[in-house]
Order: sequence, then structure tokens, then C-alpha cells
Amino acid sequence: MLKGGCLCGHVRYEAGGTPFHPTVCHCSMCRRAAGAPMVAWFTVRRAQFRFVGSAATRFASSAGVTRTFCPRCGTSLTFETEEFPDEIDVTTVSLDDPDAVPPADHTRTATQLRWVRLADGLPVYLDRRPDK
Ligand SMILES: [Zn+2]
Ligand SMILES: [Zn+2]
Repeated sequence: MLKGGCLCGHVRYEAGGTPFHPTVCHCSMCRRAAGAPMVAWFTVRRAQFRFVGSAATRFASSAGVTRTFCPRCGTSLTFETEEFPDEIDVTTVSLDDPDAVPPADHTRTATQLRWVRLADGLPVYLDRRPDK
């Protein structure tokens, strides 16, 4: 069971099953939602993810897409799209142990910031991962 939550501790979550598609996203929307140069995500089945305790705030960031964040401290927590209704993406670094789910690749690097230099040797995809 993976456990995590926001910076202030108001929102906590648990995710079961085996996480998949761990990636670092370089799209402008993830960046702005987190206020960060890139955002690491992993995916689990929606049925195996739950918030425990206080509710996160839901925000429709684009058509068919819902992001959640802590209403107190603003930590970005999840991403859901109608395109993959069985899946939920979770911000890796909101985990209590982010090292437990290291990224496997970088996605949407077509919009990577010009001052970012990737040196981890992971595969790089200009848009999405080809299998998704
Ligand atoms: Zn918080
Ligand atoms: Zn993104």
C-alpha cells in the first residue's frame, strides 16, 4: 500500500495495487499546477485509490480532465482524464516515500523548459509515451 499526502497534512491518500506508467511530465499544465519545472507521476487503478480523512479540492483543468489539490496548502495530488476512466495519476513526490516509485521515462518533452538538462538516461518522449 502506497501512502502519501499534501505538505500540510490535511489531505492524505492510499493507493493499492502495483503502480504503473511512472513518468516525469514536462507539459505546461502540470508545471503550472505544481509551480515546478516538471512533475513526476505514477498511475494506479481508480478503484484502488482513496483519499483518507479530509477531501481534496477538485479542479477541471481542461476538457475531461480533473486535478485535485489540498484546499489548505495547494499541493497538487492527482490527475484524472475521461480518456482513461479506470486510471488515476498521482504526484510521485506527494508520496511519503517518493523513492518507492522512480520514473521510467520523461514525457511531453517537446515543451521542456529550455534551462532544464536531463541527465538520468531515461527514455524521452516528445509527447505521450507511445503505448498510451
Ligand atoms: Zn495541505
Ligand atoms: Zn503534464
